[in-house]
Amino acid sequence: MTEEQSIQRRAFLKMSSSAVLAGLACKKSEKALSDIEKSAQKVGKLARRKLGYSGREVSILIGSGDLAALPAEAGILCGMNYWHKANRWMRTGVPGTILKNRDAHYCQVTVDRVGGDHYRGHFDEEAHIAYVKEALKQTSLGYFDDMQLHFGYHNTKELKSDRSFIRAFDRLKKEGLVKHLCLSQHSYAGNSRVPGGQSAAEILTAVVEDGLYEHAQFMYSFGADPEMDKFLEFARKHHFGTIAMKTSRGLGRLREDPAFMEKLPEGVSPHNTLTRWLTTQTKLDAAVIRVRDLNEFVETYSGAGEKMRSRDFKAIEIMTAEADQTACRLCAKCQPHCPQQIPITEILRFERYAMDDHDWDKASQLYAGLQVKADTCIHCGTCIQVCPLNLQIPEKISRVHLLLT
Ligand code: SF4
Ligand code: SF4
Repeated sequence: MTEEQSIQRRAFLKMSSSAVLAGLACKKSEKALSDIEKSAQKVGKLARRKLGYSGREVSILIGSGDLAALPAEAGILCGMNYWHKANRWMRTGVPGTILKNRDAHYCQVTVDRVGGDHYRGHFDEEAHIAYVKEALKQTSLGYFDDMQLHFGYHNTKELKSDRSFIRAFDRLKKEGLVKHLCLSQHSYAGNSRVPGGQSAAEILTAVVEDGLYEHAQFMYSFGADPEMDKFLEFARKHHFGTIAMKTSRGLGRLREDPAFMEKLPEGVSPHNTLTRWLTTQTKLDAAVIRVRDLNEFVETYSGAGEKMRSRDFKAIEIMTAEADQTACRLCAKCQPHCPQQIPITEILRFERYAMDDHDWDKASQLYAGLQVKADTCIHCGTCIQVCPLNLQIPEKISRVHLLLT
């Protein structure tokens, strides 16, 4: 969250918990409320779908703890009821509207490995329990609906041999502090920092077969992705919940390109078409689509769950053709083939944060933390040969290196 968003959130929380709720709304808060209500009206009620074995009804677009305050409040008015990364509210405070109606919302705590990042860190039952308890103390949420293993397992062997995270969940559940178990799963196939790493689809298939987790988040976006599509079929058959994340592949950049926007049929916006596509043309249960303010909220979320129009079909074709030339799918197929063990997928994920989300601070910090950077590329071209999009990876990562250092 940027400083500006943080200030905006704090200001709104203060406003909603005191002035507004006590009936003492000042002109500024009245305007903010009216903007929120108008935005929510434009988007309308979000449809809900069952998520996972428990059959909980969850809005097809979910929110997150780092969503800016005004779109979060508009989302609540539209029936958004699932909050990924609710532990982020430790920093900013829980929206008053959620605290006042706690049981109407599903709030998720994301729990990281300890003793290092998601490559080198490990599971620790006691540390996970302590983290969840601290997050509950700081947020006053009372309980978390979902406990999410952030970044997931490195491979199926780890899933089967290290049950520390699951034990931590079981103990917290007995105390009534968490209710459901879920994970977000990245791909670790060929990652030099994760020996024996496997793809997200391989690991998630084993997770479903294991039967302990109820739903998962994973990277999924428009364009062909046969491996994940196969997994989605499998998950649905087994009543395992699925939520797409990192969905806006390259759209932030494309939206700012007048030549690309010229090609789109009249009356469509790329993010709006993406929303319609994700919520009607896939086997997903829900999706996270980032928005930064109320304008983006309306532009992106209007039409969620509604049929694609003929112009949307045309637009998604154009978007796919364009993004396939420029934006990485984060499939990690290139990863095992780099002789320099450059974390290509990570670098191109950071590129998305910078160029699509304009989150340059986050992208630069993450890039600075990499042990092997793009400037070690020897331009052998091996990665290009295995990339399903035939992306010019060496040029791309060199550019990212320049942008983020
Ligand atoms: S071109 Fe660079 S990034 Fe690609 S495989 Fe060779 S060294 Fe790795
Ligand atoms: S660069 Fe190509 S192969 Fe590598 S993760 Fe991206 S889309 Fe997949």
